[in-house]
Amino acid sequence: MAKDMYEEAIAGLKKLLSAKGELEAVAVTKIRQLTAELEESGGKVYDPVERIRTGFDHFKKEKYEKNPALYEKLAKGQSPKFLVFACSDSRVCPSHILNFQPGEAFIVRNIANMVPPYDQKKYSGGGAAIEYAVLHLKVENIVVIGHSCCGGIKGLMSIPDDGTTQSDFIEEWVNICKTAKAKVKAECNNLDFTEQCTLLEKEAVNVSLGNLLTYPFVREAVGKKTLSLKGGHYDFLKGSFELWNLDFSLSPSLSA
Ligand SMILES: [Zn+2]
Repeated sequence: MAKDMYEEAIAGLKKLLSAKGELEAVAVTKIRQLTAELEESGGKVYDPVERIRTGFDHFKKEKYEKNPALYEKLAKGQSPKFLVFACSDSRVCPSHILNFQPGEAFIVRNIANMVPPYDQKKYSGGGAAIEYAVLHLKVENIVVIGHSCCGGIKGLMSIPDDGTTQSDFIEEWVNICKTAKAKVKAECNNLDFTEQCTLLEKEAVNVSLGNLLTYPFVREAVGKKTLSLKGGHYDFLKGSFELWNLDFSLSPSLSA
């Protein structure tokens, strides 16, 4: 059935291509791209249900069944060492890039890996995750990980100075780190947009580390030295990972 669908799709695309005189150049390019993608996938139309099934089969065979001791231990409970804030971006999954195994990291992912400040009404989702990780799981480390080419950070950098927004949620969310943006703009105005975004990816992490300290239970654990706060930045263009500790002055060098 998948093969028939593929052939039908190709036939439809060829028909459209043959009438390309009437099509805009952009549309032609798009159709060629889609044709190439279909051919690249070995003639199979992408089936999300099948993808999930084969993905789980692979995990079960290669991981779950090969590590019975680990999964027996995890069935009894979890005691992760890390609470990680990472971006929802599909390219930066912390379990992949840091090789976290099941049970090792309690992970929150959101647009631009931001930690909102303590606010019981506005940010109960983030607050609940932090409260649970710190008070109940007693994680020893919170790591906030930014990354290269972050769309959320680019969005924050693109909000006009008059503050007008166009999205329902995105700009309101990324504005959590607007003080980082103000700092980058004030200190690095000579840099181009892309360079400023790269700096903002790191500076926003520092604002999030500062925001973590607005949670009384985080402050207390940091004070007792049972919890440490770390910033990170994963650059998938260079294939590098930078890690730094919370700077209590919260004015880290932008050249880092
Ligand atoms: Zn991102």
